[in-house]
Amino acid sequence: MDRLRSMAPTPPTLPASLWTATALPGPACPPLTGEQRADVCVIGGGYTGLSTALHLAGVGAEVALLEAGEPGVGASGRNGGQVIPGLKLDPDELEARCGPERGARLTELVGGAADFVFDLVRRHAIECEARQDGWIKAAHSPAALRAAGRTAEQWRRRGAPVEELDRLRIAELTGTDAYLGGFVDHRAGVVHPLRYARGLAWASQRAGARLHGKTLATGLGRSGSEWVVATASGSVRAPQVVIATNGYTDLAAPSGPWPRLAEAVIPVYSYLVATTPLPDAARRTILPKGQAVSDSRRLLRYFRLDAAGRLVMGGRGTYRESSDPADYRAIMGSARELYPELGAPEWEFVWGGKVALTLDHLPHLLELAPGVHAGLGYNGRGVAMATLMGRLLADRAQGSGEGVFPTTPLRPVPLHRWRRPIVELATAWKRLVDRFEGVGGRTSR
Ligand SMILES: Cc1cc2nc3c(=O)[nH]c(=O)nc-3n(C[C@H](O)[C@H](O)[C@H](O)COP(=O)(O)OP(=O)(O)OC[C@H]3O[C@@H](n4cnc5c(N)ncnc54)[C@H](O)[C@@H]3O)c2cc1C
Repeated sequence: MDRLRSMAPTPPTLPASLWTATALPGPACPPLTGEQRADVCVIGGGYTGLSTALHLAGVGAEVALLEAGEPGVGASGRNGGQVIPGLKLDPDELEARCGPERGARLTELVGGAADFVFDLVRRHAIECEARQDGWIKAAHSPAALRAAGRTAEQWRRRGAPVEELDRLRIAELTGTDAYLGGFVDHRAGVVHPLRYARGLAWASQRAGARLHGKTLATGLGRSGSEWVVATASGSVRAPQVVIATNGYTDLAAPSGPWPRLAEAVIPVYSYLVATTPLPDAARRTILPKGQAVSDSRRLLRYFRLDAAGRLVMGGRGTYRESSDPADYRAIMGSARELYPELGAPEWEFVWGGKVALTLDHLPHLLELAPGVHAGLGYNGRGVAMATLMGRLLADRAQGSGEGVFPTTPLRPVPLHRWRRPIVELATAWKRLVDRFEGVGGRTSR
């Protein structure tokens, strides 16, 4: 055992960020020791795993959650905190893919994902600076404006509070004249992502789940009618296992809990920068109503203010973890381009993390073997969707049949081992197209 422990990789840690600097403490999560038993073993302590654990423990199931670092150490403690309902596909497209009946129920389910988060926050009194003030989709080109109009119309037809914005109105709400229009989705909002992750951890512990930090799951095997999850310091035997490792599935490479699961998604890096709190004059014009924004570029820019009035801006990063401010220059440049009145703002924090993409732009709920479930691939929309997926996974682990959300088999992404050069090439291409596409009088950087 001592030899195994000394071979264990260093547990992942959160990079210094706006969120770590302003977080509240999470609960103590002692590493797993010895042989344990549970009704369900959850692997991964981001929103997916924590929400699964919370929903299972809430109905009396015995849950052991294993997390390689601390809850929220992956994307869940690093993201932009935008709580956006729906999927990357428009409702009509979803219904065309899934059939009118199932597609309509699926649209309703995912359309409620942001409400699901805000309800959970209220029910468990999670202090995470949650505000449900809406999310703006900002169109940077005439084609994107037409697409935004279609999306807004499709949601409105289904009764959702989604309002189209013309050029004047979007300039009022964002404080920049860089966009041609778009829509605001009033179901959406923002949270402090790490506070939210830690709040879910507290809530699931209070509900009775056992959370084990610094516990990397290194393997999963069958033993009679149960599964045994192996770690360097102990094991968990359970009839049901939920794998919630998403863009960080390769942490335990080359083995890991399930062969080739890491190949189900394409991890890309998203970077964020945050200014010091903006002066009052700037706060009166920049996002005065507190909405979050994502724009329509192929390499989208997303931004919001935090609770203290810092401008937090994100975009695609280089293909690695970095804390070198030089790697963040392009995103800082986007902020200056949108808000030239800020001059050269002081950048207080830079950080990044991995976003898990799928080829069909949809999250995947997998049944890897009888009793082994996985949910992953939120394509940058995981704050709401991963939380909802946790409830779907909890249902599956309790043996409820296939629900509205389809279960798919594991389909490794072709050429996955070449993901880095392929992503780098695709990123360069998208950056070029974004630069040359019309921006209503401005060009993107
Ligand atoms: C920079 C950035 C900005 C983003 N912005 C937004 C946004 O504004 N809005 C939005 O909706 N989405 C956003 N996202 C996406 C969102 O953060 C994710 O979709 C969501 O957090 C996924 O949650 P998860 O629990 O599935 O994965 P994660 O939070 O990544 O959790 C996976 C966990 O599994 C653990 N793990 C991995 N392997 C093992 C193992 N073998 N044993 C034990 N533990 C293991 C990891 O340590 C990790 O904690 C952003 C992501 C990033 C990186």
